[in-house]
Amino acid sequence: MAEDFNAEQKRYLEGFASGVAAARLTGGLAIGQGGPPPEPTGPDAIHIKAQDATVKAGGKLCEQEKWKRAENPFEGHNRLKVEAATGKAPKPEDNFRWRYHGLFWVAPNQTSFMARLRIPNGILHHWQFSGVADLADAHGGGFVHVTTRANLQVRHIAPEHAQPFLDGLVDIGLTARGSGADNIRNVTGSPTAGIDHQELLDTRPLAKSWNNWIINDQSLYGLPRKFNVAFDGGGIVAVLEETNDIGFQAIEVLEGASVTPGVWMRLVLGGISGHRDLARDTGIVLKPEDCNKVSDAIIRVFIENGDRTNRNKSRMKYVLDAWGFDKYLAAVEEKLGYKLDRVDPAHVVPRKATDRFAHVGVHAQVQPGLNWIGVILPVGKIMSDQVRELARIAQECGDGQIRMTVWQNFLFSGVPDVKVAEVEARVAALGLTTKAAGIRSGLVACTGSNGCKFAAADTKGDAMIIAGHVEATLPELDVPVNVHITGCHHSCAQHYIGDIGLIGAKVVVSEEGDTVPGYDVVVGGGFAENPKIGTGIWTAIKAEDAPSRVEALLRTYLARRTGPEESFQ
Ligand code: SF4
Repeated sequence: MAEDFNAEQKRYLEGFASGVAAARLTGGLAIGQGGPPPEPTGPDAIHIKAQDATVKAGGKLCEQEKWKRAENPFEGHNRLKVEAATGKAPKPEDNFRWRYHGLFWVAPNQTSFMARLRIPNGILHHWQFSGVADLADAHGGGFVHVTTRANLQVRHIAPEHAQPFLDGLVDIGLTARGSGADNIRNVTGSPTAGIDHQELLDTRPLAKSWNNWIINDQSLYGLPRKFNVAFDGGGIVAVLEETNDIGFQAIEVLEGASVTPGVWMRLVLGGISGHRDLARDTGIVLKPEDCNKVSDAIIRVFIENGDRTNRNKSRMKYVLDAWGFDKYLAAVEEKLGYKLDRVDPAHVVPRKATDRFAHVGVHAQVQPGLNWIGVILPVGKIMSDQVRELARIAQECGDGQIRMTVWQNFLFSGVPDVKVAEVEARVAALGLTTKAAGIRSGLVACTGSNGCKFAAADTKGDAMIIAGHVEATLPELDVPVNVHITGCHHSCAQHYIGDIGLIGAKVVVSEEGDTVPGYDVVVGGGFAENPKIGTGIWTAIKAEDAPSRVEALLRTYLARRTGPEESFQ
């Protein structure tokens, strides 16, 4: 084992007078000291034991597992901070460790960090929103991206600005801790929580409580791979919980069920759309106040049993596939020490339909006289000056909050009827819109080749070209159509659940093997009340041909549908 570590890591380990790090490194393996190694203790013990079990079973830990073991990324913070201040690019293992602090080194596309925040339920105060814009100006590229986890990212952060940026987040009550690498990512919840006519449950306290549970427990940071949790309150805007490892869905249980009637959270597990799987119903229902401890137990079973040898097979889905739900849930129940409640679907009221336009435009809140107003952002990008003015609008015309959605846009909330026109006019003056449009309301694109080394195409740029082309050629498009454009198999834009999904692919254009950016295309994906993984129809089309291909699909749909009530899906 020790031979697997480079000289620097060995020196680091030798520096530990207590020998704790050495025990981490060697665990129950070859110690050469005569006696058995010390039993791992502390918050890292759960990961170390899982690594030891992997090696004892004949597995070879992947690089990232070795890096985690050689140095806890959180304990390495001060060293990383000193090294970043020199302005040098981080080594691969330190690039991985920085991700525990929310910073991603973007090379070769850029030589700077991208920072990803944590925003539980996607909701910010106006002063936090403008504060992020100020940080983007002071330390980054002067713009922010809204992500598909209702979160914000700031790009172009020079190494020497990395720590000042993180310090600045703390000043405005935010953190980036655990937003990358093998951690539980930003916690999503219904963006219309607390203001929605049809919601069954306000997800805000659940998302915030779970976020705080995660970031205050260091034993929940050494997962075999990243992990997503989402809370759907049954509202009118989809939160895509079925694409998460753990999804909670608010449901109404009827009289005659095995539990008391009322609102419960249904547990769905194993969503990972990039691996063509959506979360499936476990039959289990929970009281909302039990979601944290049950999530905790589910994740600890995953930490102990997830694959630590192959990053492509290390998500929880693969443990579920290998074990089946019954075995996995039995292990969760053993950890909890009690049986979880199950309910026959026949005793559950069907979920009310979501509305694909509800995250855009003006909508009456459950509170009389108040409205939420959804603003479309061009594939999630906003300049700092726009952010500050949007924050002022929230403060002066709404309840002061900004609610990000998984649709790469945001809502103002608490806007009185008399202020609606002013909000729309001020948004329009920024070059943005609150008007729902068939193609742009469901247009989702990942970072793409402008900022991600994995991308095979310029997803954001191509998304804008496709939208412009469709608007020009098909003005009669009168229904929302989701077009999701993702740059690689990591599926950050979840192409498999789009009506039309494009995934980046290098297209070979010469016998010598020259390539140009392009896409494979899937159609027919869905979410919320119509969850479905899309079906591939074309491979390796050139990016320049993507607009006309999308137009052709939509033209065929418009020609053959029975009416606007027949969706593209
Ligand atoms: Fe990068 Fe791939 Fe994610 Fe797009 S889907 S942001 S290319 S990792």
